[in-house]
Amino acid sequence: MGDFDGKAGLVSGAAGGIGRATAIAFAREGGSVVVADLETLRHQAEETVRLITENGGAAIFVATDVTQADDVEALVAAVVDTYGSLDFAHNNAGILKVGFTAEIEEADFDQIIAVDLKGVWLAMKYEILQMQKQGGGAIVNTASEAGLVGTPMAGPYVAAKHAVVGLTKTAAGEYANQNIRINAVAPGAIETPMITDLPQEARDSLLAPQPLHRFGTADEVADAVLWLASPRSSFVVGAILSIDGGATSN
Ligand code: NAD
Repeated sequence: MGDFDGKAGLVSGAAGGIGRATAIAFAREGGSVVVADLETLRHQAEETVRLITENGGAAIFVATDVTQADDVEALVAAVVDTYGSLDFAHNNAGILKVGFTAEIEEADFDQIIAVDLKGVWLAMKYEILQMQKQGGGAIVNTASEAGLVGTPMAGPYVAAKHAVVGLTKTAAGEYANQNIRINAVAPGAIETPMITDLPQEARDSLLAPQPLHRFGTADEVADAVLWLASPRSSFVVGAILSIDGGATSN
């Protein structure tokens, strides 16, 4: 028996990295999973689906741009049409572009805010409307260590992730009495394509203030996401759970 037997949900940004790890973990625990990511990442997203179905799990891919309201509304509808309900959602799609505050291009600022902030709000909006109809559910947003402290060279990303923390806490309080639990994870430096592709100097600087002096794994984040989405965390509402090797502990 798994924590998510008979339940269904979605994971955005599930073509790789943290999203793929949580999609696989939800399926391993019995959940049916809609894997959402950009159409341009179809090949990788379908690989996530394959990794689930070849182990007997249930999953489909739905191409989604989380910045587009129509896409997000259709994504939620696809979960319900395919599997009957939306019991869990991991709003995880995100992008990172680095640069000093005065040197970031305006278009990059707008894109980071659109994906990392508006994308999470749009997802919560349509997920909550569905969860209200069916009487409950659990939402986990991916914030970041950068949602809790400043991070050099990542101004718009830091701003968006701080805002995700605020949105999560606010929505959590608004809907808790409707049996909709909303929380967030705040990963530190996790070895995924987002970090692997950074220059070595930037990678080193991520580990410098961190007591464990290593990158975390996507599976370590997925464990926390599953706990927050499961009944085992039934008294946890509006939490921002750090999974960062102690980076924000001092
Ligand atoms: P990743 O780049 O592997 O995953 C991000 C995914 O989001 C990609 O598959 C990408 O295609 C998808 N995506 C981007 N824009 C999208 C859009 N408009 N619509 C739909 N999907 C979109 O990196 P990751 O590390 O797995 O990142 C997952 C989340 O974790 C992000 O929100 C990121 O900010 C956050 N995070 C990562 C770290 C880290 O160290 N890796 C730390 C803290 C937070």
